Amino acid sequence: MTLDLQGIGMTSPRTRKRMVQRLEEQGITDNSVLEVMRNTPRHIFVDEALASRAYEDTALPIGFNQTISQPYIVARMTELLLLSGRLSKILEIGTGCGYQTAILAQLVDHVYSVERILALQKKAKDILWNLKLKNISYLYGDGNLGWADYAPFDGILVAAAADEVPESLLQQLAIGGVLVMPVGEAGGLQILQRVTRTSINYKTEYLEAVSFVPFLPGKE
Ligand code: SAH
Repeated sequence: MTLDLQGIGMTSPRTRKRMVQRLEEQGITDNSVLEVMRNTPRHIFVDEALASRAYEDTALPIGFNQTISQPYIVARMTELLLLSGRLSKILEIGTGCGYQTAILAQLVDHVYSVERILALQKKAKDILWNLKLKNISYLYGDGNLGWADYAPFDGILVAAAADEVPESLLQQLAIGGVLVMPVGEAGGLQILQRVTRTSINYKTEYLEAVSFVPFLPGKE
């Protein structure tokens, strides 16, 4: 696979810089997140026909009824995850096209990423390999179960909305670890939540209204 990593015109570094300026205007303050998003090509994660729209602040289709998350959401969730300092092990549920994975992989030691649609996972793996991001492990499976073999995780990011945070994910969170996830009805009101595990219980913060694809059971 040959990828146009550099980009020209609407996919150029200049367009990316504008995207990052907009993120700052929207309230993203973590410089490490902004820097990584400035340097990561986003257009290579979407279909060529959509590449010219890759730096707009919107979600775009990636096939299989799924979407690449909006840049603001990727930045915000990453920032929320990193608020407690540099993290070592992150569990990501919903690899999708792999863009969020690419951002995380440049900011933490290792990303464990779970996806239930095999074709999406394969494509994401190829692109992330091309970007020379090798600190990522992939699991084709149901994110509802997390990834027990590598638990506990310092951070868990879930990119699909469920009625509640799955119990197994809470169990796989390290003490002091944080989980960021949209909670609410598919197509209805969803709130981005951040759950911190303390030595005695879990503390939940309700952050902002968001719109995510549904968290689905099983594999396909
Ligand atoms: N951050 C990704 C988001 C993709 S959309 C991106 O920007 O591309 C959400 C993804 O979560 C989809 O790929 C969907 O297949 C996946 N997903 C939904 N429910 C899941 C589950 N239970 N386990 C694993 N992945 C799941």
